[in-house]
Amino acid sequence: MKDIAEIRADFPILSRSVYGKPLIYFDNGATTQKPQCVLDAVDEVYKSYNGNIHRGVHFLSDMSSEAYENAREKVRLFINTSKREEIIFTSGTTGSINGIAFSFGERYIKPGDEIILSHLEHHANIVPWQMMCERKGAVLKVIPINDRGEIILEEYYKLLSSRTRLVSVAQASNALGTVLPLKEIISAAHSANIPVLIDGAQGIQHGIVDVEAMDCDFYAFSGHKIYGPNGIGVLYGKEKWLYELPPFQGGGDMVDKVTFEKTTYNDLPFKFEAGTMNYPAAIGLACALDYVSGIGRENIELREKELLSYATLRLSGINGLKIYGTSERKISTISFHIDNIHQYDTGMILDKMGIAVRTGTHCAQPVMDRYGIEGTVRASLCFYNTKEEIDVLADGIEKVKSMFV
Ligand code: PLP
Repeated sequence: MKDIAEIRADFPILSRSVYGKPLIYFDNGATTQKPQCVLDAVDEVYKSYNGNIHRGVHFLSDMSSEAYENAREKVRLFINTSKREEIIFTSGTTGSINGIAFSFGERYIKPGDEIILSHLEHHANIVPWQMMCERKGAVLKVIPINDRGEIILEEYYKLLSSRTRLVSVAQASNALGTVLPLKEIISAAHSANIPVLIDGAQGIQHGIVDVEAMDCDFYAFSGHKIYGPNGIGVLYGKEKWLYELPPFQGGGDMVDKVTFEKTTYNDLPFKFEAGTMNYPAAIGLACALDYVSGIGRENIELREKELLSYATLRLSGINGLKIYGTSERKISTISFHIDNIHQYDTGMILDKMGIAVRTGTHCAQPVMDRYGIEGTVRASLCFYNTKEEIDVLADGIEKVKSMFV
């Protein structure tokens, strides 16, 4: 693995300062920073070969189309599926889940049917299902969590019934960091022939994701959370589902033949890619995946584990600081609250020290309600962070505390 100085040098933004202090970026759960190679790849599209994909017969269109399809191939290999038809580009995790919620609802859902989610979900994996349930008269069922922020599997097993049509859960909680027991969730659902969607927004960047081994039916993630550009995401779906499901958007490129009387659709994966896709971002995403593979996903996992242990040790040593989310299995995210200090005050003061953390509900209001709190401060770490930065955060928190005594 490259050493940490080399890794950090790959990310131009990490060398900037904020309010005269070196930037310490601990908001990787919200979005990650981009290595130079990703910035260059996107720049190169616009500088050298920009042309709308799949449409032109001209040189630039051909080049862009080829690079876009190569990006699909990179994604296919990265998440390990044998079929390129199963890789759909979207605008992000939110776009992917909304798309499936709509299509699945249209195709399969009847009044009284049930969809199972967990109490840990991001709003992006709640609201689309709620909207679909309202349209179709279906019902959401929620797997409860314990005080450590882990889902209670026995309760999940009880929720599975002959009315369950789909289970949709996160790979890891963005609010607490908990990694969900996907193996158990998927195998229990499958033994009742129920498909499972995994929201991989907080999973893909932290270790190896192998959708075939995982055996999920759908998997969604966002490019910007794995060091790629904004505005691009992926929806993986098993071919048998994608074949049966209707498209969630209509427009150019997703069609075979259009008349005013009837339209027939394009083959997979294009059936689900209506209009001009964000091909420069897809090309940038492919470059980000190469970058991550170059660092090594096992290396990333190990390094982030080490950072998480160190940060947990440092932060839990601070009097009056409570960590929310204490599962044994976590991604490198620490959510906390300091006694009698509003999370926004903590976040704003840390910001003045050059430390970027997230404050609030993290788009996971039900998680906050579960603990009866308004929100937390969240430090989400990744492999380019350092123990020295964690020390600065711990000292910064002590300073915040001293300002409120
Ligand atoms: N799901 C989870 C678990 C997330 O953490 C996020 C974003 O933070 C999303 C979904 C939505 O991702 P995006 O806004 O990139 O669509």
